Amino acid sequence: MSAASPAAVDVITIGAGGGAYPAGFHLARAGLRVAMVDPKGVMSGNCLAEGCVPSKAVREMAHHLERHRRFHARGMVDASGIDYARVVRHKDWVQELRYAQHASELEETPNLALLGGRARIVDEHTVQVEAGDRRDLISARRIIVASGSDISRPPIPGAELCITSRDIYALRPTVDRVPASLVVIGAGYIGLETASFFAAFGARVTVLEMLDQILPGLDRDMVGTLAPLLAPAFETVLGAQVTRVERMPGGLRVRYRAQGRERHVDGEQVLLAAGRHPVIPDGFRELGLTVGRLGADVSPAMQTALPHVYACGDVNGRTPLFHAAVRQSLVAARNILAGDRPTDYFDRSAVPTTVFTLPAAACVGVTGGEARARAMDVLEASYAFEGDSRAQIFGEMGGEIRLFFEAGSLRLVGGWVVGIDAGNLIGEIGTAAAHRLTARQLADFPDQHPMASEGISKAARSLV
Ligand code: ADP
Repeated sequence: MSAASPAAVDVITIGAGGGAYPAGFHLARAGLRVAMVDPKGVMSGNCLAEGCVPSKAVREMAHHLERHRRFHARGMVDASGIDYARVVRHKDWVQELRYAQHASELEETPNLALLGGRARIVDEHTVQVEAGDRRDLISARRIIVASGSDISRPPIPGAELCITSRDIYALRPTVDRVPASLVVIGAGYIGLETASFFAAFGARVTVLEMLDQILPGLDRDMVGTLAPLLAPAFETVLGAQVTRVERMPGGLRVRYRAQGRERHVDGEQVLLAAGRHPVIPDGFRELGLTVGRLGADVSPAMQTALPHVYACGDVNGRTPLFHAAVRQSLVAARNILAGDRPTDYFDRSAVPTTVFTLPAAACVGVTGGEARARAMDVLEASYAFEGDSRAQIFGEMGGEIRLFFEAGSLRLVGGWVVGIDAGNLIGEIGTAAAHRLTARQLADFPDQHPMASEGISKAARSLV
């Protein structure tokens, strides 16, 4: 491709992560010529590079170790330690396996090309791809902006001394052993999950959160159920405004203000987990397209103000989760195939979210807090894991399933789970809520025994 004569495609995606490649495959299989551009030069974005997949590879080992310790305490298994460097190698192996899998999927798909480089929007139908000294112009009938998000670095003096999730979860990460002590700045899902894993691996962990609850923004009742289950593993300080990070012998000192007093906590390492922000590609605003509080402005059809320019995934900040990006990407693909006429829409209310702490917490749809805020009449049904056979088998009996039904119709509008198998259970609850199943329908479903999912039908039976 030369800069003088732009190569032409039907669709170009800026980024090759969850917001981009599902549309890429769908459209290429429908016969459109698609180019995906990503500086990583590989498909699947930050989820596989440093997010969901590698963090869960680490998480499952921490979970395994925690279970092992519990069984050891009961004399069922031998004591054993953990070799964190090998855990990291396993994580790397999973990442490399998946990269290879994606590469062969790509190879097998005609009409779909992946270009390594950074994309810049030149005009409504032209994108420039920069790779090293090369500059290629590509003209495209449609553009899908799926440039994702990046780690936020608040202007705290000394923030550059901190590690980020990238140092732990990227391929061949800089962190390959467990620090004796870890301070985590931020009790969002990334900070809290990592705190939970490293506490299980034996680090002394302190989490500092500026606001008055962990997992700000998530249902308070769910968080209130989770917090005491996490409390034995690590300390959390709420209302802690970090003012400075300083070097000191053997590690770092984090200074913060809480309840009007200056305090500090020391750690061998400090993890900065103060959120992520959307990455808006160069040239986006110059098209007259706007970026709001969450990210790039889009309609539920994933269209920007220019109907042929779509913005999917973390870049629009609506629901910054991989599986939401995938759904949004497919919405964009369908609307492109319909000639940019909206025929499919993203529904934010039907996206499950799991915080993979030990134990995990998960939610979907309208839960108690939101129902109260919207003055919606809902009926609650609950099931405590204390009496659940699978929870008893593992000795993980904390937490519960809570379901919310619209009063009158008794249709499921949402739910949350704290405790065993939360990340799986929310899938069944989410499917039921997305299809507005009734308490009667859930009650009549013979959920499997002895699996934690039987709690869903048991909870529903309490209402009908
Ligand atoms: P999402 O799930 O929202 O798609 P990801 O983080 O998985 O988000 O993927 C976004 C991808 O976009 C990342 O791999 C990132 O490297 C890429 N990206 C960011 N900015 C640009 C750009 N200007 N040109 C091309 N790719 C970009």
